[in-house]
Amino acid sequence: MIKKDIGFVLKRFNFGETSTIATLYLHNFGKIRGIFKGFYRQKKEFSTSLDIFSLNEFIFYPKESEIWLVSQADLIAEFSYLKDSLEKAAVAGFFFKLLDKTMQLWDKNRYIFNLVFHCMRLIEKDYTKAFYLFLIKFLTLAGIKPELNHCIICQKLIKGPRFFSTRRGGLLCFECCKNYKDYKSISKETSKAFNYIQNNSIAVASRLQLSSHCQKEIAEIIEKFLAYHFDLGNLFQRSLLFPHPLASKFVSSL
Ligand SMILES: [Zn+2]
Repeated sequence: MIKKDIGFVLKRFNFGETSTIATLYLHNFGKIRGIFKGFYRQKKEFSTSLDIFSLNEFIFYPKESEIWLVSQADLIAEFSYLKDSLEKAAVAGFFFKLLDKTMQLWDKNRYIFNLVFHCMRLIEKDYTKAFYLFLIKFLTLAGIKPELNHCIICQKLIKGPRFFSTRRGGLLCFECCKNYKDYKSISKETSKAFNYIQNNSIAVASRLQLSSHCQKEIAEIIEKFLAYHFDLGNLFQRSLLFPHPLASKFVSSL
């Protein structure tokens, strides 16, 4: 049956002389792959250039096979500020690559769609903040939220030193960490920033100021956490080049 939905273009490649195949992230259908037959014949049904990052409205035919036929596409927004800034484009590129690598086909998640939409707009004002807010909220919405209030072993509310264990998915208290080796000490500031961002809307959380030390700790925690749950290759290292204060430590070139 024919359907209509809005979504972002995650990636695309040409197919034959006149067609293109794109991976889309849709509001109601999640990640899909669509073929746009005759896209380069300048058909009136395609009033968009289907640029990566653009938001469009699509009309398509869902079916069992992996690639769906898209019969119409109209541009809604193209976030043109990304074209003027390598840093902003790198942050948006990170969002889209992360979505492409972690979302299964047809696994719908409107919360993640809305997160992408809000963070794409926040990039224009403050791309560093958009990067960290997206990372922290993405973990929660993807169902792998780390625990940063209570000890993951004994459930005690943590007030003293904080030790984060990637494998166990959260903080260990001073007593419990004596029995484990796979943890890293993190600051109270980072732990509180994590909680604040997890528990507030993007609009409220974006008022929080993150020190460079806090940004570094958040990036390190999330990099390890994502790598533990997903096969991301070198995505994180490449994309940290711009927002991360110590990025040059991780990469030598793009
Ligand atoms: Zn404990």
